[in-house]
Amino acid sequence: MESIASNLEEIREQINAACIKAGRKPEEVRLIAVSKTKPASLVREAFDAGQIEFGESYVQEFLDKYEDSLLVNCPIEWHFIGHLQSNKIRSIIGKVSLVHGIDKLSTAEELSKRAVQNNLLVDYLLEVNTSGEASKYGMQPGELLGAAETLFHLPNITLRGLMTIASPDTALAQIEFRQLRKLLEALREIAPEPRKLTELSMGMSGDFEEAIEEGATMIRVGTAIFGWR
Ligand SMILES: *Cc1c(COP(=O)(O)O)cnc(C)c1O
Repeated sequence: MESIASNLEEIREQINAACIKAGRKPEEVRLIAVSKTKPASLVREAFDAGQIEFGESYVQEFLDKYEDSLLVNCPIEWHFIGHLQSNKIRSIIGKVSLVHGIDKLSTAEELSKRAVQNNLLVDYLLEVNTSGEASKYGMQPGELLGAAETLFHLPNITLRGLMTIASPDTALAQIEFRQLRKLLEALREIAPEPRKLTELSMGMSGDFEEAIEEGATMIRVGTAIFGWR
């Protein structure tokens, strides 16, 4: 197997190439290394190769890594990218720089409540089910604009953008990424502070080049860095 350092280098080159093709600047796309199911030692290896932002999907696994002696002194920026149940919010709040997977108004309300209680400001993304697959989490695109008015006014939390997990087929995925970008544009038109609403978290190992073409500002890549799970 290739080393994590060389995988990261290769992905950064692919990001650069995709940005050039799309007429974008590579600094506009943040690489989030998805380390779920992988041990802290491999996260450390990626960190030592220059990777700062990591994504985790499961609360307990995240907390274990957050406190792991190999990582505790590394200035890692953690992203929570999994499905977040309301009752788990209290254990991750303050430890992650961005919560990607808020998929219901009630979860956003709970996030807001906990943020107020802990005197924290929390950034989050709304997950949108762009593929329409019943097995996937996320708000329906049609629900989003209706909920926005309430979401914008919840205290101590800031909606920074949208996240999606696209269909496995890359041609379909590209259409879904475009749809997510259009939704973000529509949201910005009604947002009290559109400046803050800038992020599109979309694209994984198999489709991040298409996502960059459609405007991704964060790509979440696991397998291509750490190998198969
Ligand atoms: C696991 C996961 C990824 C990474 O997927 P790969 O195909 O391994 O790159 C990205 N986003 C989410 C939400 C995930 O759960």
